[in-house]
Amino acid sequence: MSDTQAAQELERLAEQASTCTACRLAGTRTNVVFGDGSTRAQVMFIGEGPGRNEDLQGLPFVGAAGQLLNQLLSEIGLQRSDAYIANVVKCRPPGNRDPRPDEIAACKGYLVDQIRLIDPTVVMTLGNFATKLLLKEERGITRLRGRAYPWWNRIVIPTFHPAAALRGGASVLASMREDFALTRATLDGRPEPRSEPEAGHPVVEQLELFG
Ligand code: URA
Repeated sequence: MSDTQAAQELERLAEQASTCTACRLAGTRTNVVFGDGSTRAQVMFIGEGPGRNEDLQGLPFVGAAGQLLNQLLSEIGLQRSDAYIANVVKCRPPGNRDPRPDEIAACKGYLVDQIRLIDPTVVMTLGNFATKLLLKEERGITRLRGRAYPWWNRIVIPTFHPAAALRGGASVLASMREDFALTRATLDGRPEPRSEPEAGHPVVEQLELFG
C-alpha cells in the first residue's frame, strides 16, 4: 500500500471512529482522540487513554505527560511530528479511571488498523495497559521494560507511562531515557546489550494480532 493510500485509509478510520458508539465511553467523551502524527512514522507510541486535555482538544498527549514525551523524543533526535501517537482507548474514561476490559476490546480494532497502516519499525508501549495488550503478559511494566521484543515483524519496546515519571521522579525518568535510547539504537540498527529477551522470556509472536 502506498503512503497516500495508508494516509487516506487512516483518515477514513478516524472519521468512522469520530461517531463510534461501541462502548459506554461514547456517552461521556467530548471528542474521540483517534491519533496524531506522521503516517510514515518509524516509531509509534501507544498510551492508555485520553485525559481531560486530550478529550477537550481531540489530540493525544497534549498535557504535561505529552510535554515529557516530546522532550524524550527530542533527546533521541526525533520530533513529535516524526512519530505517530495513539492510545489503547480512543475516548476518555470518566475521571481518568482505568479503561475496562470491554472498553479495550471494543476499541482494539482501531489500534490494530493503525499499527497495520502506519507500519512502524518500533512500537513503544507506554505503561501497563498498552504493554499487556500487545505482549499478552501478566508481568507488569517494571519487569518488562528495558528490552526489545520481536512482535509481528516489528519491535515492541515497553516503557513507563510518562505520567508515572511525572509522579515517580528521577529513577522512572532515567529508565525511560534508557528505553528511548534503545529505540534510537533499534532504529539505527545498532545491537544493544539488553535488546534480546532473556532466556526463558517468550518471543512474542501470537497467531492473531492481540488475540
Ligand atoms: N495519557 C495517555 O495515556 N494518553 C494520552 O493521550 C494522554 C495522557
